[in-house]
Amino acid sequence: MDRLYAQESLDSDEIVYLLDRLDEESRRRLHTLAHQKRVAYYGTVVYLRGLIEFSNICKQNCMYCGIRSANKTVSRYRLQPDEILECCREGYDLGYRTFVLQSGEDDWYTTDKLARLIADIKRRYPDIAVTLSIGERDDETYTRLFEAGADRYLLRHETASRRLYQALHPTMTFENRRDRLLALKTIGYQVGAGFMVGLPGQTHEDLAEDLLYLKELNPDMIGIGPFLPHQATPLKDEPAGTLEASLDMIALARLFVPNALIPATTAMGTVHPYGRELALKAGANVVMPNLSPLSVRPKYTLYNNKICTGDESAQCRFCLEQRIEGAGFHVDMGRGDSLNWLSSPPARQGDL
Ligand code: SAH
Repeated sequence: MDRLYAQESLDSDEIVYLLDRLDEESRRRLHTLAHQKRVAYYGTVVYLRGLIEFSNICKQNCMYCGIRSANKTVSRYRLQPDEILECCREGYDLGYRTFVLQSGEDDWYTTDKLARLIADIKRRYPDIAVTLSIGERDDETYTRLFEAGADRYLLRHETASRRLYQALHPTMTFENRRDRLLALKTIGYQVGAGFMVGLPGQTHEDLAEDLLYLKELNPDMIGIGPFLPHQATPLKDEPAGTLEASLDMIALARLFVPNALIPATTAMGTVHPYGRELALKAGANVVMPNLSPLSVRPKYTLYNNKICTGDESAQCRFCLEQRIEGAGFHVDMGRGDSLNWLSSPPARQGDL
């Protein structure tokens, strides 16, 4: 662990060795080292992002996901562009300076519609960052949305194990996922990758692959959370990933990619009442409160028992702010760009 702290990397065998031997005491040490690394790079600030889950319509069929196309029991919804703009207005007034637009892979939202929406948001609020999380699209779409003003893109790699990826994504390929992440990076987005912990059949070797892939990709953001079963998916009877294993992977991600922004995800808050606070203490430095209209929140159910489906966005912001400050951190309402990106050539930063 000390060598990892100094070198910011380990090889696959060393990661597996560490994961095989983690116990309560060494785990505490791992989390403390990750916290120190985070403080060294980012201090004790936590960035807030307003999350807008704008459509749960999806053409893909991921085995774990509650909004997969084969699930006929979901009540499907799609917010119209003016409704999304209204969420942004509310969020802006609450102080948010990043909006994360997330959805299933919904082709009603064509490149033109998305480009117009992003340009509208940026025209109204030039001082904010727009993050997209809408799945796999082609180069042309990614480029046009970037030119329209999108700043960041979250596309988790989901798992770096080819075997697991193929078993879990009947409608997608391992190669294309990686290719899309590289395309986003080349275009100039701040890119977010990430993975689930505790997927059925996932081994320590697989998790080592996830860390080494992150190290190689060097993303601006890393989303990590436990796999949580959803009752209307083929994985409904599989055990959930654990709080401990997820915290360990967050800590390791911080130690491997110290420059990255790492959210304390909703899945962490779902697996344990203090999961997000514990994630912040193990290296995470972003929280993404929900800004979606209350009426649609219960419908964006990727897994069972998802939290924060009933709070107003104002309540959400102040509840989280109290929790974050209570855990010893400080909320920063700025755009919160990644250190990687801030230190990269201006060409990548557009006209900022
Ligand atoms: N369509 C977008 C957004 C996907 S939803 C995309 O493809 O990127 C956001 C994330 O939720 C996914 O990347 C996945 O890692 C996570 N997720 C989905 N189902 C889950 C489950 N059952 N348990 C835990 N996380 C899940």
